[in-house]
Amino acid sequence: MLAIQWFPGHMAKARKQVQEKIKQVDLILEVVDARTPESSRNPMLDEIIGEKPRMVILNKQDLADPALTREWVQYYQDQGFAAIAIDAQHAKRLQQIPQLATKLMAEKIARKKARGIRNPMIKAMCIGIPNVGKSTVLNRLVHRNIAVTGNKPGVTKNQQWLKASDNFQLLDTPGILWPKFASQKIGMRLAFTGAIADAVFQEDVVGLYGLTYFMAHYPDALKKAYHLTDADLQAAPHDLLVKLTKTQGFGEEFNRMAERLIFDARQGKLGRFTLEKPGEIDADTE
Ligand code: GDP
Repeated sequence: MLAIQWFPGHMAKARKQVQEKIKQVDLILEVVDARTPESSRNPMLDEIIGEKPRMVILNKQDLADPALTREWVQYYQDQGFAAIAIDAQHAKRLQQIPQLATKLMAEKIARKKARGIRNPMIKAMCIGIPNVGKSTVLNRLVHRNIAVTGNKPGVTKNQQWLKASDNFQLLDTPGILWPKFASQKIGMRLAFTGAIADAVFQEDVVGLYGLTYFMAHYPDALKKAYHLTDADLQAAPHDLLVKLTKTQGFGEEFNRMAERLIFDARQGKLGRFTLEKPGEIDADTE
């Protein structure tokens, strides 16, 4: 996992790099994690990309709650963005990205054609915070396996255009920006899904956050994964963590159980989940 430490100097550098790349493209593919769509966006992206057309790509759809993913796609569409949910890992629904891009850029394409350009190219780039799947999306779109994973802000190289379809090209390196640090809740969501380095928060705190969330929203998933009863689910989250620590064989090492819970959730062993709903956003950043 990419563990970038975001200091002000790094942020300024990342921003400058992304701004340079943006100049070369017609369209921004903003990749977010479908489990935490809003928390996994960069807080300054609007300001950074200005008026460029944007497609919000809710990636890792396979891990997210399908009903909430539909709500999120609608939410971004209502805000005037193109939005699509995909699973880049298993190459699901990716072919719709070039199609949607062509639709989105129809006017610009028509203008270029009117000027005599026979097959106008749409030039795009992926942007997002670490670990949302930018490199996977990029690789799948261009049918290659380029080792872009691990690219860090500060590492520059000659850029290339890679072909995704006859009229759709992508910049070979994604733009990496920092995650939101607006509230403890956002931090917990990002830590639980692995978007920010495990070292940033203590795993018992993150695990307890996840357990509390699942008890409230996905109790059946917990019951099934850890053979719990309805009565177990009525306990206080802390007490349930104590019980699970024992029954899962960790004695009194709560942090190991917390680590296990986080691991299981990230692996999909607790089923598909989403940690935030469209209506909750404003309350989070207050
Ligand atoms: P980047 O840092 O944004 O470039 O993220 P990567 O492309 O390196 O992906 C981060 C991790 O998420 C990797 O372990 C990928 O295999 C995984 N990943 C990417 N896309 C998906 C997806 O759609 N579904 C699932 N389950 N995992 C994904």
